[in-house]
Amino acid sequence: MSPPPRFIVVGAGPAGLSLALQLAEGGAEVALIEASERFKRQFRGEALMPSGQQALAQMGLLPLLKELPQRPLEGWSVWLERRRLFRVAEPLGSLQPCTLVPQEALLEALLERARRCPRLQWRPGQAVRQLLKRGSRISGVELSNGEQLEADLVIGCDGRGSLLRQQAGIQLKCLGKPLELLWFELPGPIPKDCIWGFQTLVAGGRIGSACLNASGHLQLAWLLKPGEERDNLASEEWAQRLANLAPAPLAPLLIERGASLRAPVRFKVQVGMAERWQQPGLLLLGDAAHPMSPIRAQGINLALRDSVVAAEALLAGDDLDAASAAIEQQRRTEVKRLQQLQEAEARQGHLIGYSSPLRHGLTLARGLMGPVAQRVWMARQRPLRDGLPEQLPKPKLAVPRTGKTNRN
Ligand SMILES: Cc1cc2nc3c(=O)[nH]c(=O)nc-3n(C[C@H](O)[C@H](O)[C@H](O)COP(=O)(O)OP(=O)(O)OC[C@H]3O[C@@H](n4cnc5c(N)ncnc54)[C@H](O)[C@@H]3O)c2cc1C
Repeated sequence: MSPPPRFIVVGAGPAGLSLALQLAEGGAEVALIEASERFKRQFRGEALMPSGQQALAQMGLLPLLKELPQRPLEGWSVWLERRRLFRVAEPLGSLQPCTLVPQEALLEALLERARRCPRLQWRPGQAVRQLLKRGSRISGVELSNGEQLEADLVIGCDGRGSLLRQQAGIQLKCLGKPLELLWFELPGPIPKDCIWGFQTLVAGGRIGSACLNASGHLQLAWLLKPGEERDNLASEEWAQRLANLAPAPLAPLLIERGASLRAPVRFKVQVGMAERWQQPGLLLLGDAAHPMSPIRAQGINLALRDSVVAAEALLAGDDLDAASAAIEQQRRTEVKRLQQLQEAEARQGHLIGYSSPLRHGLTLARGLMGPVAQRVWMARQRPLRDGLPEQLPKPKLAVPRTGKTNRN
């Protein structure tokens, strides 16, 4: 009998951690390397769509998910010049509502379970600094302390700026313009009648959003215009700007509590697709292969779906390179479609947000145009919530069995 395959998974975000868990539970040797010591990072996204919940169910992790702090989202609404254009209640025809789960809690729970596997080596606090090669094949990684680790396959789940992708010389094909946003948090408790669901706020040539997170704090976003520098404002001034987008009773609350608004974190997100996700000895997954925009909360969900497909294929055969190629082929279609839909939302948002004649026309004809806008919006939502049909492995992925093994 051949020894179990040895994997190095780089990055313990949703993609890397869920994959490492499945591989280790499937009997493989896994070293999981994470640059940070802890999962607590400000403003990790936390919306789990039904598509991500389905992936967790497929991993057998629904009982684990049920134990975590969470809050089902009430619904979605779009506001123009502080008046409601439309609102739609969850679950929008899906079986489950979009659910807010603190990402830190989800990752901690996945890690706790993964660490029960004797074959999993957890290596926090050391970044990978270099890929190692044997001939033309990637054979391992070097950590920032100089330690070298070897594996049959290195799996890069190191996020949208992926060092592994860059070191492998794999280009990122960009889709649309980068999105730059500022994220704020207003500590709770927030009175229930101040906010309902996820609100997209468009007013005076500005775009923002507001949503109560799973921990009861208010998360607010402010989209920077392309090329715009961030103004250096005090909390109260930012609160006033955000209040200018928001309807009552959210707007007065923001002004009243402006001093406690936490300083913004700036994100620059370029949506893209790696020209290829694999080369001999290396596979990229999650944002490393396809950085997602935060629009309609897709990235965690797709990362989890990548990992279900990858675990099944990698545990099924000896030829890990052939399995990696099959994984890429299987996942590209869904990811590409959902990125296109995110991009369509972004384009529509920009068009309405930055064209004042259109905005004013829509505001005036709100009664007539609201239902039309809602229909256009709804037409995009099914795949963004549920993913494309039949994307997860059931029946099993057909991985070509070549008879040869390409392990080191
Ligand atoms: C503001 C914002 C809000 C968002 N909200 C949502 C949301 O609500 N729902 C949703 O589905 N998506 C959301 N997203 C997208 C989502 O966060 C990402 O798509 C998702 O986290 C990708 O998961 P991942 O595991 O591929 O990568 P990541 O979550 O980025 O994890 C990568 C990990 O790799 C580690 N790492 C990086 N380099 C190295 C290295 N050299 N060595 C070792 N470790 C390394 C990092 O420390 C990190 O832990 C949001 C994104 C943004 C910017």
